[in-house]
Amino acid sequence: PVDRLPEIQEARLKLPVLAEEQVIMEAVRENEFVVLCGETGSGKTTQIPQFLYEAGYASAGGIIGVTEPRRVAAVSMSHRVAKEMNLSTGVVSFQIRYEGNVTKDTKIKFMTDGVLLKEIQKDFLLQKYSVIVIDEAHERSVYTDILIGLLSRIVPLRNKKGLPMKLLIMSATLRVEDFTENKRLFRTSPPVISVEARQFPVTVHFNKHTAMEDYTGEAFRKTCKIHRMLPPGGILVFLTGQAEVHSVCRRLRKAFPYRGSVQHTDAEDTSEELRKFKKVNKKKTVSLPRIDLDNYSALPVDEGDEDRQAGIDDDAEEGSDLDLDLGDNPEDAEEKADPSIPLYVLPLYSLLAPEQQAKVFRPPPPQARLCVVATNVAETSLTIPGIKYVVDCGRVKKRFYDKVTGVSSFRVTWISQASANQRAGRAGRTEPGHCYRLYSSAVFSDFSLFSEAEITRRPVEDLVLQMKDLNIEKVVNFPFPTPPSSEALVSAERLLVSLGALEEPPRQGRMVDMERARLSCPITPLGRAMAAFPVAPRYAKMLALGRQQGCMPYVITIVAAMTVREIFEELDRQASSEQESSKLAGRKARFVQMRRLWAGQGPSLLLGDLMVMLGAVGACEFAGCMPSFCEENGLRYKAMLEIRRLRGQLTNAVNAVCSDMGVCVDSKMAPPTESQVVCLRQIVLAGLGDHLARRVQAEEMLDPKWRNGYKTPLLDDPVFIHPSSALHKTLPEFVVYQEVMETTKMYMKGVCAVQPD
Ligand code: ADP
Ligand code: MG
Repeated sequence: PVDRLPEIQEARLKLPVLAEEQVIMEAVRENEFVVLCGETGSGKTTQIPQFLYEAGYASAGGIIGVTEPRRVAAVSMSHRVAKEMNLSTGVVSFQIRYEGNVTKDTKIKFMTDGVLLKEIQKDFLLQKYSVIVIDEAHERSVYTDILIGLLSRIVPLRNKKGLPMKLLIMSATLRVEDFTENKRLFRTSPPVISVEARQFPVTVHFNKHTAMEDYTGEAFRKTCKIHRMLPPGGILVFLTGQAEVHSVCRRLRKAFPYRGSVQHTDAEDTSEELRKFKKVNKKKTVSLPRIDLDNYSALPVDEGDEDRQAGIDDDAEEGSDLDLDLGDNPEDAEEKADPSIPLYVLPLYSLLAPEQQAKVFRPPPPQARLCVVATNVAETSLTIPGIKYVVDCGRVKKRFYDKVTGVSSFRVTWISQASANQRAGRAGRTEPGHCYRLYSSAVFSDFSLFSEAEITRRPVEDLVLQMKDLNIEKVVNFPFPTPPSSEALVSAERLLVSLGALEEPPRQGRMVDMERARLSCPITPLGRAMAAFPVAPRYAKMLALGRQQGCMPYVITIVAAMTVREIFEELDRQASSEQESSKLAGRKARFVQMRRLWAGQGPSLLLGDLMVMLGAVGACEFAGCMPSFCEENGLRYKAMLEIRRLRGQLTNAVNAVCSDMGVCVDSKMAPPTESQVVCLRQIVLAGLGDHLARRVQAEEMLDPKWRNGYKTPLLDDPVFIHPSSALHKTLPEFVVYQEVMETTKMYMKGVCAVQPD
């Protein structure tokens, strides 16, 4: 029996899934696999684990496992469910890559999908669990996909052995056919239960003209108009990244100052904005026409879609009163600071500190309208209360990989129609709402219907190694919900063979046999050791070699630093005044100086960027890993904490694999000796051997674009050492690099000099 607080009980009763409890639990009782669909906010994540608990799934020896693709969700949902059930976090717990609070009394365990995959490696039958819930399956994260494939085999196996087990797949949008209609996955389609959310109609307004370059400016102007002209109700703005979010927050706070809170602390205005702001203040204010608020057309999202598909022309949709008034003409939209209508502006993105994130769940101060400026995180994982207006820029930032060369880049691309409709839906949670799309309906109709599954978009060598370690030799035959391309599979096996993780395929025999053999190489003992490390195979190889000459603590630190993103703070911000500009220049100079110091002297210089990382982590730990030290020296504090946790975890993993090692994490690590540096360079070369680049010889005879360029085996064009790299001036003949990232040029990241023999 669960003893809930009355206010919790009352809030629960309003959630759509509550009405379906019996139907859902009966389906789970009768079937091995069940798919549950329901709009974001309908109560899937918070309530289904409670239903299972109350139906006794955690009382017969097994526990309830719930997987989430995002760490934030695993942590915050475990807290929320513990609170709702009035149970301690020792009973409703979480486990993510670096930390957790699981105890022997844990009955409901929230974890990231990666954590469960690792557990399958230890116990293929997952005997701890009586039921697994895969949450957010629509996100199609790589690990979620793999887990569904594996569980489609594990669950029947368990039931055959008389150890009953259930799988529940939960998804927000309705594209579940990849799971249900995939005969390799489930021979008979599992039942799909759809929960009707209490969704109010959302009127969708398209721009006549798509905002191309300046969509953040357009988002700002649209938000201002909504705030000035439309009745109360929260505004949610979708942008693509942290920098955009901050810039729009700043401008909105400037336009509608809200006094009486500390919300302005993180806002520093750029000179460009100040200039615009002054200009606006001189211009006479344009008075905007009043709108008749009783005359809205209230079209539900879905009906709007039908209209579009039926080919009704743009003007018919865009010609409503609301659109005339909130038109997409930038000219009349300059804003003048107006403190009489305060706007409570909050940023929301995944790297934001949790206590900042939590603010969006609390009601805004009286008299002020809530405005959340968010990245994609607000699309499905989090439900913000009280949103009535959505402003959608129609874009998302994603990482892209070249299938052949592995070169990656972050690009802003159009979202899918499914995402656009998800975003629009956020406006209709509490009452009828409006969604303003900063693009035309013609552009919308060119969007793809759904976003692609992640597994088709990235290299898969880590997955292939994990699968081989699970003794799945023929990875091509694995029941993927959506299979990766065969190119990706072939290049993954090739890399793993070259790292020594898989056995070499036979070189002789019939062509077809050789082809087949290339895709079914068995794992080697080295491969098994590598699979035990929670990092990508190239880094796992370095760890596997790390025991030479006492290098292990250094290898662990370098690998930890390489796998954590953006450890250095970048100072590319524009200064708003001369004073600030000289302050910024001073900081920049100090950062450069520190990095030079960390790069060391003599032979350690050749370790290049990796030595800088090693030196930075060493110095930071020596100083006790304090936020002030990071701030002064250009290190990202959050990244440093993550590196610290990862070092601990990798150290444990190494000790588990080689029990005689006895390495420990030393916060007062001395720099490596000369012979250790030589050894480290060899270890790095062994891991990154396929990322070798050679300085172009006789470059004067070539195209000027090759100046200071490097040639790599797979790319026709040159790659470069970034000006911020420790080896930028040295330009060694041979280097290995962590990865190539394309920004203004193709730049190598994490460069280290090598001398191949
Ligand atoms: P779903 O998984 O279907 O998207 P959830 O179970 O996450 O739905 O959310 C159900 C409700 O619980 C939502 O109205 C949401 O706002 C509320 N909720 C979730 N987490 C919190 C929290 N930490 N504090 C307050 N309310 C929350
Ligand atoms: Mg959820």
